Amino acid sequence: MNSYFKNILQAIKTTWKGFQVTFSHFRKAFRKQKPVFITENTYFQQNTGRVTLEYPKEKLPTPEIGRYKLYNEIDDCIVCDKCAKICPVNCIEIEPIKATEEFGKTSDGTSKRIYAAKFDIDMAKCCFCGLCTTVCPTECLIMTDEYDYTVSDITLHNFHFANMSQAEIAEKKALYEKYLQEKEETKKQTAKEKTQKEHHQTESKDKVVFKPKFKPKS
Ligand code: SF4
Ligand code: SF4
Repeated sequence: MNSYFKNILQAIKTTWKGFQVTFSHFRKAFRKQKPVFITENTYFQQNTGRVTLEYPKEKLPTPEIGRYKLYNEIDDCIVCDKCAKICPVNCIEIEPIKATEEFGKTSDGTSKRIYAAKFDIDMAKCCFCGLCTTVCPTECLIMTDEYDYTVSDITLHNFHFANMSQAEIAEKKALYEKYLQEKEETKKQTAKEKTQKEHHQTESKDKVVFKPKFKPKS
């Protein structure tokens, strides 16, 4: 009989203990961990509370040196093509149009002489090596901390940075064509003038100069 009541008491004790453990976790579950950056000392000390973030309202801080989505500040781009050349997967496509003269400066004072009719980066192909950002002379090509750019159509991962209208592209192309034609005509004209001058000089050399001959007096 004694052991019967002892067992009941033991059951109540263990049930109570179980409830205590459950309720302590239940209470902690309502507390929430603060999203802290991995370099902070408290990062690994936060071992209680919910770790789930209410994304996208809340986001974990991302490291400054992270490689996420490329961005080109096109106004500072001199369309030098270095980024496209170094890209190991050819995901940068540039269509340059040469200007006939300097048409502006970047924010670091570099002259702009080439327009970008097209500047596309296909992030679906990008392997995030970051090489393009290291060779950019004006530092206009950067990796941003934007990591969520989910799309339903993969072609939407091809981002366009050029900001010229079709009319502007046509105008700048025509201007450069005209400049090339004028240059070619000037070249032809100079060559023609040179040939004429040389011809004239040869003619003058070959011309028989009249030299009166005098008979020797006998
Ligand atoms: S990060 Fe690498 S793969 Fe991506 S665009 Fe730049 S060079 Fe190409
Ligand atoms: S390397 Fe920089 S400046 Fe040159 S084309 Fe690429 S983004 Fe533009």
